[in-house]
Amino acid sequence: MLILVTNDDGVRSPGIRALADALKGLGRVVVVAPDRNRSAVGHALTLERPLRAEELKPDVYAVDGMPTDCVNLGIHGLIRQTPDLVVSGINCGSNVGDDITYSGTVCAAMEASLMGLPAFAISLDCTQFNQDDLTLAAGFSRQVAEHVLSKGLPPDTFLNVNVPAGGCRGMQLTRQGKRKYGDLVTTNKDPRGRHYYWIGGGDVGFESIPGSDCNALHEKMISVTPLHTNLTNDDSFAALQDWALGVKA
Ligand code: MN
Repeated sequence: MLILVTNDDGVRSPGIRALADALKGLGRVVVVAPDRNRSAVGHALTLERPLRAEELKPDVYAVDGMPTDCVNLGIHGLIRQTPDLVVSGINCGSNVGDDITYSGTVCAAMEASLMGLPAFAISLDCTQFNQDDLTLAAGFSRQVAEHVLSKGLPPDTFLNVNVPAGGCRGMQLTRQGKRKYGDLVTTNKDPRGRHYYWIGGGDVGFESIPGSDCNALHEKMISVTPLHTNLTNDDSFAALQDWALGVKA
């Protein structure tokens, strides 16, 4: 078996090392990950400049690009072989609800899924890694990987896995929930009196929706959400169907 491992926290993150180590017994594990933290770059792809990959040690590559670049470069440029599985993580911080569209971790798995490959993303609900939580998340990654490698995934499906920190009661199949982002822009002045703005730092909450990824994590359950990339809102079709907007010359 060939497993491609990537992330958005960068190739030196303890999360990706724990993940790669946990998967090693299942086959050849090749790590192709950004050379620095690329969190919240979403599904970004580098098109305006060339990419470089540095082989840090056998089967571990640092790429000066985005997580989605790493999936492409890994498969088509470096390994030149189709992996049996692509795993992204273990991310430092949960990726639930609306986080998904920002998440480089989740979008790397999405990219693999768009290529028709089985893939999952795994994130730990923490602001800093703790060894016990990381061990638990790595062990669960291994279980998911084994399962996907032997049973496969339904068509057009990749998984978004989120692991709670500080104790875990079990696993739950969930739906994407809803984030409530707080005051997201901090305004301040630099030493020369010019304003600067910093996104983030507000309180991040969630809407309580039973069965959602957010609720599951809050209830100390490992959340497993099957995702696909099509964002069409089928429910709105009825409401928009009688729009008759003419095009005026
Ligand atoms: Mn990250």
